[in-house]
Amino acid sequence: MKVAVVKENAPGERRVALVPETVPRLTQAGLEVLVEEGAGDGAWFPDSTYLAAGATISKTADLYATADVILTVTRPDESAVAKLRSGQAVVGMLAPLIDPHFAGELAERGVTAVSLDGLPRTLSRAQGMDALTSQANVAGYKAVLVAAEAYGRFFPLLITAAGTARPAKLLVLGTGVAGLQAIGTARRLGAQVSGYDVRPASKGEVESLGATFVELTSVVSAAGEGGYARELTPEERDAQQAELAAHIGRHDVVITTAQVPGRRPPQLVTEDALAAMSAGSVIVDMGASALGGNVAGSVAGQTVVTPNGVTIIGAQNLPATVPTASSNAYSRNISALLLHMVTASAPDSRALAIDTTDDIQAGVVITHGGEVVHPAVAKLLQTEGGNDVDRAGH
Ligand code: NAD
Repeated sequence: MKVAVVKENAPGERRVALVPETVPRLTQAGLEVLVEEGAGDGAWFPDSTYLAAGATISKTADLYATADVILTVTRPDESAVAKLRSGQAVVGMLAPLIDPHFAGELAERGVTAVSLDGLPRTLSRAQGMDALTSQANVAGYKAVLVAAEAYGRFFPLLITAAGTARPAKLLVLGTGVAGLQAIGTARRLGAQVSGYDVRPASKGEVESLGATFVELTSVVSAAGEGGYARELTPEERDAQQAELAAHIGRHDVVITTAQVPGRRPPQLVTEDALAAMSAGSVIVDMGASALGGNVAGSVAGQTVVTPNGVTIIGAQNLPATVPTASSNAYSRNISALLLHMVTASAPDSRALAIDTTDDIQAGVVITHGGEVVHPAVAKLLQTEGGNDVDRAGH
């Protein structure tokens, strides 16, 4: 079976789906690895490093013509989709819940689509394949560095002959994977850190990292299914926003990561909360998207300064800005999933062994045999929607 690594072509995307270190894991399993010329350049893996690891460097047209499986980080663009053949498989973070029509198009072309963002995250045997977690870790780390760079003061307490600088007070709103990594990173930089989440289970995790957990009286718990949060009712949301505003106003730096599966990101920082902050404060909104983010007025991919001097950074694709680390982790995730799907097939098989009765595959296989086989994506397609869905492969 020929597995191909393509060069990502989304703007600003510097990650690569497979790094040279992982190539031998696939070749030892009997797979042939093709790499599109220059695919690893953005993540500092030149073609020569893939050759040395046992891969073949291939021109774009040859690669699409001969590969059985295409590995990507994000979803292929129109020109790449046009090159996909019936019977070929594409494996990546394809975000089918954001755009179910894309899945429909792949099904029509007879392409098997496997999306890592559908992986069941609480299955312990699938943890090594969890790309949402590995990329959220990178994003949480980088968000703190982005905030530190925009902040006009120090993060740590500094006592010098020229005076004493107090530590920055940093608040993380939403303490899932990215939020906990942000807390750890901010603590390492010496900030005084607090965290808040609607899932009560996160209190212990926040405190175990040495940060203070902010408890609100208005929303005691909004734990949903599968470890995720549920959407708040309008009354809960208003009460939460009002109570949070007082806490936000006491902080210098705020990092927001809140997401609810299948919903727009909740707004946690309102205009009133922004007005309560001091000039020079910084917010990094990791929930920023075209449909709005966690912060009033944030714009994805842009930095906005409010009239009272609060810098709001609409973070976008932070993992791509730490491309080597994020590619290393992603490469381990995608190769673990790929090997899970080929071990069941005959060694000389030219296709993945699709089996949607397997609980891992049931989450990740989106299209197969000309059909959209993933129930949630198929349902979205039928209802012609996905309009209220703003969740995906980050
Ligand atoms: P996510 O990206 O969906 O959301 C980020 C955080 O935002 C979550 O902690 C969520 O509770 C919080 N949030 C949502 N609405 C909020 C609101 N209105 N106010 C404040 N906070 C709000 O979450 P994630 O980082 O993907 O993690 C979700 C859960 O999955 C966590 O419980 C995590 O521990 C769990 N998880 C488990 C595993 C595993 O078991 N292997 C792996 C990854 C994640």
